Amino acid sequence: MKMIPDLEALLPSQPSGKHGKISLVGAGPGAADLLTLRALRAMQAADVIYFDRLIDPEVLELANPRAAQVFVGKDVGACAWPQEVINQMIVEAARGGQHVVRLKSGDPSVFGRADEERAAAQAAGIACDIIPGITAASAAAAVLGQSLTSRGQSDRVIFATGTCKEGDSAPDVAALLQPGTTVALYMATRINRDLRRKLLEAGFDPEMPVQVVTSASKRNEAVLRSTLERLPQDMEDRGLSHPAIIFLRAPKHCDPVQTRAALGAEISQ
Ligand code: SAH
Repeated sequence: MKMIPDLEALLPSQPSGKHGKISLVGAGPGAADLLTLRALRAMQAADVIYFDRLIDPEVLELANPRAAQVFVGKDVGACAWPQEVINQMIVEAARGGQHVVRLKSGDPSVFGRADEERAAAQAAGIACDIIPGITAASAAAAVLGQSLTSRGQSDRVIFATGTCKEGDSAPDVAALLQPGTTVALYMATRINRDLRRKLLEAGFDPEMPVQVVTSASKRNEAVLRSTLERLPQDMEDRGLSHPAIIFLRAPKHCDPVQTRAALGAEISQ
C-alpha cells in the first residue's frame, strides 16, 4: 500500500495503446460485506486503485493483488490531495491503458465529488462509469434499527452536509427540518455546537432526540442517543467524532405551535 504521493512513479509517461477506463466505485460504509458484487468485480479487474481515507483496509484486501493501491485521502475540509491532482492522476493512468478504480466511501454520488472526476474523464475522452454503494446514512439507520422514512411520520429524507466548499454557508438545518422530515447530516461533527445553537435559536425543543452513529459498520462503530441540548457535551464525553451521521427528525404531527415558532412558517394541515 502506498501512503506517500509519488506522482512521477504513478503517471505512465507513454500511452500503452490499450484502452483504459475509470470506474468511480462506491465502497460502502466500511464493512467489506456491504460492498456490492459489482464493486467487488471492478476492484478485482483493476490495474490501479486510488482510495480515500475512509476506505476500510478489509475492503482493500479484496482487490486484485496485482493492482497498485494509492492513497489519495483528504481531511474533512482540508485537502491533502487537491481534487485537481486526483483528477489528473486518474485520467493519466487511464490514458496509459489502465483500468482505474477510484474507490470512494459510501456512494460516490453522495458528497463524493464524483461529478468532478467524471467531468475530467469526459474532457479527456476516457470512458467512466459509476458503481453505486451503500451510503453512510443508510448504514447508520440500519445500526439504529430505524428507517430513514417512516409511514405517517417521516415522508422525506434529506442528506445534508455540515461542511461545504470554503466560503459557502452550510445548509440551514432549521429550515430543512419541516414536519415529516428526517435529516441525515454528513460531515457535521465539527459543527455540533453551532448546530445546537442555531436549532435552539429557531425554537426547537432542547429535549428533541438527536442520534449519532459513528463509524457505522466498522469495528469501532458507536451509537449515541442524545438530545439537542446535550449533543455537544455527550459527544465530547463519549469521545465521538468523525466519521459520523447525525440524525434529526421532525415528526409529521409534531406540535404545531412549537413547529410554527420554530420554522416561522405556515403549517398547511
Ligand atoms: N460518499 C460517502 C460520503 C462521503 S463524505 C457516502 O455516501 O457515505 C464523508 C462523510 O460521510 C463523513 O464525514 C461522515 O459524515 C460520513 N460517513 C462515511 N462513512 C461513515 C461511516 N462508516 N459511519 C458514519 N458516517 C460515515
